Amino acid sequence: MPAPIPGFPVDIGPAYEGERIRKKMMYVEFGGLKVDRKFELVVACDPEEVEDGKVEVIGPDLMELEEGGSYPLGIIVKVAGARVERDLEGVIERRIHEFINYIEGVMHVNQRDQIWIRISKKSVKKGLNSLKYIGQALVYLFKTVMPFIEKVEVTLITDPELVGKYLEELARPRYEERDRKALAMRDEDVDTFYGCVLCQSFAPTHVCVITPERPSNCGAISWLDARAAANIDPKGPIFPIPKGKCLDPVKGEYDMVNEIVKQRSMGKVERVCLYTMFKYPHTSCGCFEAIAFYIPEVDGIGVVHRDFRGKAVNGLTFAEMAAQTGGGLQTEGFHGLSILYMKSRKFLQADGGWKRVVWLPSALKERLKEAIPADLYEKIATEKDVSNVEELKKFLIEREHPLAEKIKAMEEEEAKAAEEVEAAEARAPAAVPVAAPGAVVQPIRVTMHNVRIRVGRLVIRRRR
Ligand code: SF4
Repeated sequence: MPAPIPGFPVDIGPAYEGERIRKKMMYVEFGGLKVDRKFELVVACDPEEVEDGKVEVIGPDLMELEEGGSYPLGIIVKVAGARVERDLEGVIERRIHEFINYIEGVMHVNQRDQIWIRISKKSVKKGLNSLKYIGQALVYLFKTVMPFIEKVEVTLITDPELVGKYLEELARPRYEERDRKALAMRDEDVDTFYGCVLCQSFAPTHVCVITPERPSNCGAISWLDARAAANIDPKGPIFPIPKGKCLDPVKGEYDMVNEIVKQRSMGKVERVCLYTMFKYPHTSCGCFEAIAFYIPEVDGIGVVHRDFRGKAVNGLTFAEMAAQTGGGLQTEGFHGLSILYMKSRKFLQADGGWKRVVWLPSALKERLKEAIPADLYEKIATEKDVSNVEELKKFLIEREHPLAEKIKAMEEEEAKAAEEVEAAEARAPAAVPVAAPGAVVQPIRVTMHNVRIRVGRLVIRRRR
């Protein structure tokens, strides 16, 4: 697709989707982990409230920012049209991700109040020297790709105070209102779920299955949003999935979901159980808001969200776990999900739901206060309570977490196994031949290919 806007300094088109801009290539970045104040928001308006084509930058523009820095950014897109309604806001908003990625030398990641945008030095050199170009591209692409949108106006805010103000007073209340509406329904009440393949440009086998009680991984598209999108744009990336026969109500397995996910993932994913992170879990793309991770030492589940900057209780950061979770794969034990799903009645219900959760970052725990059963709230550890799995075990036992008895039993079993190993070592003669004094001992190298090793329990003990 050639540059469609007269005087636009760089190319625009799907070919640039998936373009990565590394730190050394970037001119500046907006949002991301280093910046607290960031958001993008689409607001459905009456036609007279939108000045079609207007793009405004409030605060310092690109050339006024120091190269290499990280800055706050708020993007507000006002849209209007005879068929534009509030139920479509979430879906239109999600396309900001795709459209900004169409711009040569601009990378957009995540959504809502987690956005992260990088602009390359190369594109700045070519003339992309103002944020107004991002606004112009959004106006053009929204009207071209979603022609039911008749008027578009874009405001890009970099003034830190104003970004914070709009985030708290406009964007977050709007996200919360959408989420409340979305979770008012139950999966059993509908006969159609929805699928989304928007993230296949990054994760080719990923298919989001969006149900009233299992919202999309990115958290930006609820079942209501998906229904509205599929109605207004039947050829778009969101499509209906008739539920078909329920094969397992606890795990959330449906025959038509399996069939359609298989087709849309090009045969790579054959079964999906919607409410579990273990056998045949929902695929994870890369846009998930949080990762649920299994902690075998306590047989529990931790959840870490994107904004958490430290190491989780398993010693890994969000980014390190994301590397094992994304790409459209079904990864047992690491599971991408949205924060909205954690407020759902179906949240990992096949795995024990909240009774199985043992660790959360304190900020996420606070954010989910209303959703966590009151009797469990104080029993879930955070980074303020424990910093490793051994401390976690003690915490869970002390607080009488539902897994406490199991953890005690596991510890007893471990101690017994260790004693058995010790006794066996004491009884057994040395099996390794001892080299004659002065002889040269040749090391043995064993190379294995295509081997998967499963270890039930590994006890490493120092030899006395
Ligand atoms: S995470 Fe899922 S719902 Fe969200 S844009 Fe990607 S595929 Fe669509």
